[in-house]
Amino acid sequence: MASPVAIAAQAGKLLRERALRPRLLAVRSQAGHLTPRRWLNLQEYQSKKLMSEHGVRVQRFFVASTAKEALEAAKRLNAKEIVLKAQILAGGRGKGVFDSGLKGGVHLTKDPKVVGQLAQQMIGYNLATKQTPKEGVKVNKPIEKVMVAEALDISRETYLAILMDRAHNGPVIVGSPQGGVDIEEVAASSPELIFKEQIDIFEGIKDSQAQRMAENLGFLGSLKNQAADQIKKLYHLFLKIDATQVEVNPFGETPEGQVVCFDAKINFDDNAEFRQKDIFAMDDKSENEPIENEAARYDLKYIGLDGNIACFVNGAGLAMATCDIIFLNGGRPANFLDLGGGVKEAQVYQAFKLLTSDPKVEAILVNIFGGIVNCAIIANGITKACRELELKVPLVVRLEGTNVQEAQNILKSSGLPITPAVDLEDAAKKAVASVAKK
Ligand code: GDP
Ligand code: MN
Repeated sequence: MASPVAIAAQAGKLLRERALRPRLLAVRSQAGHLTPRRWLNLQEYQSKKLMSEHGVRVQRFFVASTAKEALEAAKRLNAKEIVLKAQILAGGRGKGVFDSGLKGGVHLTKDPKVVGQLAQQMIGYNLATKQTPKEGVKVNKPIEKVMVAEALDISRETYLAILMDRAHNGPVIVGSPQGGVDIEEVAASSPELIFKEQIDIFEGIKDSQAQRMAENLGFLGSLKNQAADQIKKLYHLFLKIDATQVEVNPFGETPEGQVVCFDAKINFDDNAEFRQKDIFAMDDKSENEPIENEAARYDLKYIGLDGNIACFVNGAGLAMATCDIIFLNGGRPANFLDLGGGVKEAQVYQAFKLLTSDPKVEAILVNIFGGIVNCAIIANGITKACRELELKVPLVVRLEGTNVQEAQNILKSSGLPITPAVDLEDAAKKAVASVAKK
């Protein structure tokens, strides 16, 4: 799960495509080390704040970072019943388990004191759900917290999502009267219970569409108008904040006749960062490794793995191919660092600095395909970095494409102990061999 900083501007786009995402995850799980999020992800409480600012109905809530704060929040809410929810960037919390032994990331209680006791067993512990790595995700200060909300009775749980759909080239509203549960299961076992409304982005959502969806979700009488109104508000929110997905599960109704968004998951379009500064400022980078954040400062994308060969590449596709071929030759990548397109010599230097700062790294494999990238710039960056950083690990370089001849001359005449490689296979073999020798 968990998802937003992408691997590179263009690679990020690629990775968002479903076809590639599992590949990246496969590389990660092969490597046995999971750093799950790469896209802007907000916690539920942050998403709900945006929703409530746009007239979408959510429960009253506070967030807390300690058990004491949770207890105080519960008292302050002064509600008949309270729901305590662990804030991690993964779904399926209700059925999750903490390594404190506590079962369930979502708890209902009438007693504020119990809220404190439950929070005690959540904060600082890992919560494992169907969507997290096996060991779970830590509910941690200062970013990850617990949400203390006024619980409402739920008489019916439906599912509602708005997403940018590639096939339709625009927003689609997806809903099911069978909510609360795993929607993939519903889609598989009862596809007739999944309803869709394609929205024309220029015309916007029509009343008739919102009404039809409300009806398909099973909202009756006055609840139908209320649900339709909530759906329209969610659609306006979706557009306004440049979301690629707004998912509400459960989109529920209460016995008192209110339509309420009980849960919230919003994904954002990274390309809209420039005009959604406030939202991107909320980005929870606490699940990133510090080195990833450092890389992002230089417009480099870093993914940590657990082997010993650092990969210095351009493009997510090449990164994955490089990792694969290292595995095939019996080695293990320590990480990959993606240069992206319009690269400058100084970035190459920073990249090497980052790669070599990782004590796991025993060799570096450079695999650059110069399309937009000029190989000579890379070669100059490499030689400069080697000299200034007094590189102590073997360096295997494979350059191909624009200005490759000049690049090779630069490397050769540098007199530095750089091992050239003719192609990717050759590069991987040499890198793996250099580590094995040690
Ligand atoms: P998720 O498991 O991570 O998707 O977390 P949710 O926020 O969806 O909560 C899980 C389940 O807890 C929901 O499907 C509801 O059945 C239940 N739940 C959450 N909030 C409330 C509430 O205020 N009242 C009641 N009665 N149930 C709730
Ligand atoms: Mn949910």
